[in-house]
Amino acid sequence: MPESGVAIVGAGVAGAAAAIRLAERGVPVDLYEAVPEPRPIGAGLLLQPTGQRVLAAMGLLDEALALGTRVDRLFGDTPSGRAVLDMSYRRFHPEAYGLGMQRGALMGMLWRRLRELGVRWHCGAAAEGFEQDADGVTLRLAHRAPVRHAALILANGSFSRLREGMRVAQHGRPFPWGAVWTVLPAPAGFPQIELRQRFRSASQMIGLMPVGKAHAGDPERGINLFWSLPLSELEGWQERMGLDRLKQQMAALFPEVSPLLAGLRDSTQLREARYADVWMSRWHDGRVLAIGDCAHGMSPQLGQGANMALIDAHELTCEAAGDWPGVFERYSRRRRAHLRFYGQASKGLTPMFQSHAVVAPWLRDRFFGWGGKLPYIHQQSIATLAGVKTGWLWARLKL
Ligand SMILES: Cc1cc2nc3c(=O)[nH]c(=O)nc-3n(C[C@H](O)[C@H](O)[C@H](O)COP(=O)(O)OP(=O)(O)OC[C@H]3O[C@@H](n4cnc5c(N)ncnc54)[C@H](O)[C@@H]3O)c2cc1C
Repeated sequence: MPESGVAIVGAGVAGAAAAIRLAERGVPVDLYEAVPEPRPIGAGLLLQPTGQRVLAAMGLLDEALALGTRVDRLFGDTPSGRAVLDMSYRRFHPEAYGLGMQRGALMGMLWRRLRELGVRWHCGAAAEGFEQDADGVTLRLAHRAPVRHAALILANGSFSRLREGMRVAQHGRPFPWGAVWTVLPAPAGFPQIELRQRFRSASQMIGLMPVGKAHAGDPERGINLFWSLPLSELEGWQERMGLDRLKQQMAALFPEVSPLLAGLRDSTQLREARYADVWMSRWHDGRVLAIGDCAHGMSPQLGQGANMALIDAHELTCEAAGDWPGVFERYSRRRRAHLRFYGQASKGLTPMFQSHAVVAPWLRDRFFGWGGKLPYIHQQSIATLAGVKTGWLWARLKL
């Protein structure tokens, strides 16, 4: 069988963006996606200055700005009014901001670009396994003949089983907490400029983020509503708790959300999100590379996953293709510091926001607000949020 170009498994943010960047460089790409008819859906995302820079390099930033909503500030507090997080992008850079977007809007843009570039996109093609040798990789697909390519990129999300076929030390642990989320139309007068969170200890959290339009013709700008739940309560929450009780809990924690909740009439509007902590000692194995959540899945607490997927795609194409084992090995080296920092930060910070812990959120409530008033701490926190940190001191990502 002849080897032709690169196979990418998964047409999410990471796979679609990597396919675009490789196709732009003239690399033949085949994109394999398990879903027969992918639809542009998914939770609201905060696109950081890093992700925005990658979209600019793809010529897609202006469209993203028209679809999304600018977020200048992140503010989180407790029911007693104690400020826990208060971060303003302007303190990072006078012109910096986050961009709240619906994942569907982002996917719609990326998928259109894929088609414009003539990427061969195979839907309903679930990859089941692969074997590599000195000359290429054979990818096994459900109900289809195997295909042979010069290299393989795994971009099939946190719960990838294909990743286990890489000869790399790794683990993917389902996170014990998840969330329900939805996008609701913003009621008249509802504040639109900040990402707003409220916490009760680490066991309750509500998040509201303006996320703009689902597509260019959408007349309404939406607000993403996020409600944290332990996995034990997420399973079958409709039967055990029901929508009305859930809405009561939300309004009790954050009364200002009530006008928004009027748009939440049916439990099917709420979608469930589960995530996993993925760690790999490196991200390449010969002619195979893992990117996106498949390589470094984490909880969405730091708002980095989609941005990291975009950076992965961008860094992958920093050099001409050809010697794929060499390209992938150098990619792993370039990505190491950034991926390690965010993996560690996510592990350290997530239990302060989603867990049954008592001490960690108590410390958070006492010290985060106070620490944020110190210029150094504030700058480090906002640089973390902006997605540019590559170490615990001053090191910054260069894109
Ligand atoms: C509630 C929530 C809020 C979030 N908020 C933010 C945020 O504010 N900012 C941010 O940057 N990130 C955020 N994230 C994270 C972000 O959504 C993910 O990091 C990002 O979408 C990962 O993209 P991906 O392409 O790596 O994986 P995925 O989006 O999971 O895509 C994987 C693709 O692979 C396909 N696939 C799976 N298995 C196979 C197979 N065997 N064969 C072929 N195809 C397959 C799937 O169908 C899917 O299309 C959030 C996530 C959640 C759940």
